[in-house]
Amino acid sequence: MNIRTKLTLLLLALSLFVIAAAGYFTTLSVGNSLRARIIGELSTEANQVEFHLGHWLKSDSNAYEILGEYAKAGGYRLTLIERNGTVVYDSDVPRAELAMVENHATRPEVAEAIRGGTGMSTRHSVTVGRDFMYLARPLRPPPDTPGPFGTASILRVSIPLTEINDALGEIRNDVLLVSLLVLAIVTVIAGFISGRLARPLSVIAETAERVRAGELDRRIEVRSGDEIGRLGTTLNDMIGTLNRDIVRLRKLERVRTEFLGNVSHELRTPIFAIQGMIETLINGAIDDPAVNRDFLHRALRNTQNLNALLNDLIEISRIESGDMKMSFRYFRIGEFIRQVVAEMLPIAETRKVALTAELPSGPSGSHESIEVYGDRERLKQALVNLIDNAVKYNTDGGWVRVSAVDEGSGVKVSVEDGGIGIGPEHIGRIFERFYRADRERSREAGGTGLGLAIVKHIIEAHGAAVSVESTPGKGSTFQFSLNKPK
Ligand code: ADP
Repeated sequence: MNIRTKLTLLLLALSLFVIAAAGYFTTLSVGNSLRARIIGELSTEANQVEFHLGHWLKSDSNAYEILGEYAKAGGYRLTLIERNGTVVYDSDVPRAELAMVENHATRPEVAEAIRGGTGMSTRHSVTVGRDFMYLARPLRPPPDTPGPFGTASILRVSIPLTEINDALGEIRNDVLLVSLLVLAIVTVIAGFISGRLARPLSVIAETAERVRAGELDRRIEVRSGDEIGRLGTTLNDMIGTLNRDIVRLRKLERVRTEFLGNVSHELRTPIFAIQGMIETLINGAIDDPAVNRDFLHRALRNTQNLNALLNDLIEISRIESGDMKMSFRYFRIGEFIRQVVAEMLPIAETRKVALTAELPSGPSGSHESIEVYGDRERLKQALVNLIDNAVKYNTDGGWVRVSAVDEGSGVKVSVEDGGIGIGPEHIGRIFERFYRADRERSREAGGTGLGLAIVKHIIEAHGAAVSVESTPGKGSTFQFSLNKPK
C-alpha cells in the first residue's frame, strides 16, 4: 500500500471517528434535553390533573369518563394508585380489567411517591406493552373520604416514548446523512492532501531507484525546506559524493592497469635483450672474438637495469602502500650534502661531468651549524636520484651544482645542471611514473623512469614540494625546501 492510500485511509478513519463521536454526543444531548422537557410537561400535567381532580373526585357520576378524555386529549396516560399500590384507575386499561393489573407498590416511581417524594422512571410497561416515561407523586391534599377512585392518593402521569424515540430516530437519520456528506467531502480533500504530501516522497523514491539503476547524474528536485526537502538535499549530496567516489575509483583502476602494463613492458625490454644476446652467443657468436665480450657486457648491463627497475618498483610500491616508515631527526644539512656529493663523484667522473657542492653561510651564521628536520636516509635517496639525473642528462664536460640556502624558516636545496634541459611539453609530466622526456637516452643511461616519482613522494612526505625549472639546451634546476628546527 503506498503512502498516499495510507494517509487517505488514516484521515478518513480520523474523520469517521470525529463524526461518530459528534453524532453520538449530539443525539445524546438532544435526547437528554427532550427528556428534560418531557419531565417538565409531565410535571405541569400532574399539577393540572391535581387541580381538577379535587372537583372530579366529588362529581363521582362521570369522573371516570372525564379523566379518560382528559388524558386522551393531552396524549398522556393517567394512573391513580392507592397507598398500598393497588391501581384504581388507568386511562389505558378498561375498567373491567383493572382488577387484573398487578400491584404497583414496587414500581420505582410509585415507591418514591409512597415515600412522599416525586418519582421518575423510564421503562417498558408490562401493563400496556410499550416504553413509557413516568412521573408519580402523592396527591395533595390526600382524599379524606373514599370517592369514585376509592382512597387513591398517588397520581402517576406518563407518556409513551414512541414520540421521543421517533424524534431521536429522525435526528439520527439527519446526523447520518450529514456524516455521509462530510465523509464524501473529506474523502476528496484527504485524497488531495495525501497526494500533495506523498508526491515529493514518490519523486525521491523514483530518483533513488534510478540512481541505483546507474543513472548517477540524476538529482532530486528540492521544492521545500521541510524534512522532505532536507531529505532530498541530503540524498542529492550523497549521490554527488558517490559520483565523485566512483569517478575516483575508476581513475584509480585505470592508473593501476596502466601501471601494470608499464611494468610488464619495462620488464620485457631488458629480458628480451638478454635473451636475444644469449641466443646469438649460443648460435655461434660465442666463438667470435669480435663480438662475444661486447654481447656479454651488454647482457650484464641489461641485468643491472633489470635490478635497478626491480629496486625502484619495490621502493615505489612500499611508498604508495603506506608501508614506508619515516624516521625524522635533526641533522646538519651541510655535512649531509657534502657526503652525498662525495658518494656521487665517481659516477659524475665517469660521465665527465663536474659535480660540486656550494654551501654559502646563511643569515644564522655558519652553514656548518645549520640543521634541518627530516628522514636522512630518504632524503639521501631523493638527492641521489636528482644528482644522478643531472649527471645522466648532461653533456661531456658539463657541470652539476648542489647547493643549500638558509631562508630563515627553512633551507632550500637545489640541484642545478648545465645539461640538455627538459622541453616545456614534458615538464608537467616528468614526475609521473615511467614518464621519460627522452626514452632512448633514459634507457641508454639505465634509467627506470621511476626516479622522480620516488623523489616527489619523499619530499611530499616531508610536507614540502619539488619544483623544476628548465631551458632546453641550457640545463635544469630541481628545488625543494626542508624545515629547520623551531
Ligand atoms: P629516469 O629513470 O628515466 O631518469 P626519472 O623519473 O628520474 O626517470 O626522470 C624522468 C624523466 O625526466 C627522465 O627520463 C628525463 O627525460 C627527465 N629528466 C629528469 N631529470 C632531468 C634533468 N636533470 N635534465 C634533463 N632531463 C631530466
